[in-house]
Amino acid sequence: MRIGVLAVQGAFAEHEQVLRALGAKCFEIRQQADLSGQLDGLVLPGGESTVMGKLLRELGLFQPLWEKIESGLPVLATCAGLILLAEKISGEEGRHLGTLPVTVKRNAYGRQLGSFYTEAEMRHIGTIPMHFIRAPYVEEVRNGVEVLAEVDGRVVAVQYRNQLGLSFHPEVSGDTSVHRYFLHMCKDAGEGGHFSSI
Ligand code: GLN
Repeated sequence: MRIGVLAVQGAFAEHEQVLRALGAKCFEIRQQADLSGQLDGLVLPGGESTVMGKLLRELGLFQPLWEKIESGLPVLATCAGLILLAEKISGEEGRHLGTLPVTVKRNAYGRQLGSFYTEAEMRHIGTIPMHFIRAPYVEEVRNGVEVLAEVDGRVVAVQYRNQLGLSFHPEVSGDTSVHRYFLHMCKDAGEGGHFSSI
């Protein structure tokens, strides 16, 4: 299992640590040439989505990553990564990869509550720790998107086919269950399986 972690900005190193601890091989994606080898899954980490989106375009990573995701490459997207995937960003004109049919609201919890910790149930996984850091939430989901977790009535985790989008940061929690779930998605995809997201 060889997982590429987008490493142009943000919290990529923490994802690599967790994935390596689970026995996956990881490599960092910083330029087009990094995409030439075997790639069984992709992590889009937290950070600053506007900066990451700009760098994706400048570095020529945007189109090849978009094509891979559209053709079924499993993706784990956390926080800013979720914003990169979203089809629509609430109150903004533009979008980035736009492969996940949801509307997200950036910095949705306001300044005071921008960062907080809770534990909640995530479908298929169980109760897990959730760290929110200037987090977005999912304001609207469209056809075929499965809601995996809600906190205070707000959607914070979704799955659509090969794409797993989370508002929170599982990589800082010490709990590896989300990454284990993602590695199962990668394994299934590699074996020609499909994801039932409905
Ligand atoms: N607020 C950031 C953004 O809008 C996301 C924060 C994060 O990834 N922790 O891109």
